[in-house]
Amino acid sequence: MKYYLLFGPPGAGKGTQAKLLADKYNLRHISTGDLLRREISNKSELGLAAKALMDAGNLVDDSIVEKMIENEIDGNPTVPGFLFDGFPRTVAQAEALDALLEKRGGAIDKVISIIIDDALVYERIAHRAAVEKRKDDSNSDIIKNRIKTYHQMTEPLVDYYKDKGKYFEIEGDGTIEEIFNKISSLI
Ligand code: AMP
Repeated sequence: MKYYLLFGPPGAGKGTQAKLLADKYNLRHISTGDLLRREISNKSELGLAAKALMDAGNLVDDSIVEKMIENEIDGNPTVPGFLFDGFPRTVAQAEALDALLEKRGGAIDKVISIIIDDALVYERIAHRAAVEKRKDDSNSDIIKNRIKTYHQMTEPLVDYYKDKGKYFEIEGDGTIEEIFNKISSLI
């Protein structure tokens, strides 16, 4: 079983790349953002709890996303591998993921980080807002909060995975195809 992780700020293109990579390598794509948005549209209790945090550009509780990931992994025992997108987002989540995979005899193979600077993040999200109509894309204060949250809570994972020798970077300012080819060569 292979476990890959796509890493990068909001708007880096993780979702777009993850869908293409999942198709090419027959990996199960798990986006915690998509799973949470599904809970919201189903009006589940979990969705209701997550909605206000997501709409404000804050992270939802570690325990919620960790449980979702566990369910996804255990619910798909026959796939050749998983591609995580938007998870983990905190060091606590990364530790929980390591423990979860270790219990199942696995480990993260590679973390592939898509590097883009804050100005481009901002531009991409503002553009996406017009297309996807996500509430957390629609307001400049919320976008700024998501960028801040990324730097504060998620960026420490760079060192976490570097220390384990699993961290790889690619530049994210090319075309979708260029970036796809760079990631493919790492996988
Ligand atoms: P995304 O679609 O990955 O940009 O995620 C949208 C929102 O869902 C984030 O801004 C968070 O509020 C929430 N979210 C997604 N993944 C996580 C995660 N791993 N940990 C905490 N919150 C998350």
